[in-house]
Amino acid sequence: MRIQVLGCSGGIGDGRHTTSFLVDDDILVDAGTGLTTLTRDQLRRIDHVFLSHAHLDHILCLPLLLDSVAGERAQPVTVHATPEVIDVLRQHCFNWRLWPDFAALPSVEAPFLAYRPLALGESARLGAREFVPVPANHVVPTVGYLMRGATGAFVFSGDTCVNPALRALIDATPDVRHVAVECSFPDAELELARASKHYCPSLLAEDFTGLRADVGLWITHLKPGGEARILEEIGHALGQPAQALTPGQILTL
Ligand SMILES: [Zn+2]
Ligand SMILES: [Zn+2]
Repeated sequence: MRIQVLGCSGGIGDGRHTTSFLVDDDILVDAGTGLTTLTRDQLRRIDHVFLSHAHLDHILCLPLLLDSVAGERAQPVTVHATPEVIDVLRQHCFNWRLWPDFAALPSVEAPFLAYRPLALGESARLGAREFVPVPANHVVPTVGYLMRGATGAFVFSGDTCVNPALRALIDATPDVRHVAVECSFPDAELELARASKHYCPSLLAEDFTGLRADVGLWITHLKPGGEARILEEIGHALGQPAQALTPGQILTL
């Protein structure tokens, strides 16, 4: 399994893109502006999209993906998400007002978009690849994902604040090789982090100090312009240098 980082920023500007991972050539995890870095040929090959939650920075390019290539595909694009997230998409995005209902186009019988509800902890297998929603703690219903390939697993936190259940899951899962955890704000914005339910370095350290040595910890969703400061604060809080995910980075599992 090849996981390519398309976008890993908390915002846009100067080459930044919001959250999206491309798994092999047919699966997306989140659909932020990172999608705009793909060619139409690459967009056409995407069969499945796993969503962490329905905040705009994570779904922004899904409506445009469907509009750009769905008519050239033989099968619908399948969106996997929790029932709560699917409900938000149906009610507030693909509702004919903000965007057409691609689950009813060109017909309900053979649509461009298909929804596949996925519960927390339930496993979705696509060939040899496995995707499992994992707990998150955000202001709206949100999950992270454990993605498992032939040689190990990658855990993506989604948007989250203090989340001991996620750390416990990583500790209990010996084949986890990499973890990408969001840290949106510096410690000076602790109250904003708590109110919007994102990590800042001191809160991140409550959950991720002493992670076992064979797990690579990668920071993502950093606030634009604050990257260097947040990483420095994480380094102090964890007692070891912090590394950020980078656009184009590839993890092989
Ligand atoms: Zn969010
Ligand atoms: Zn976000």
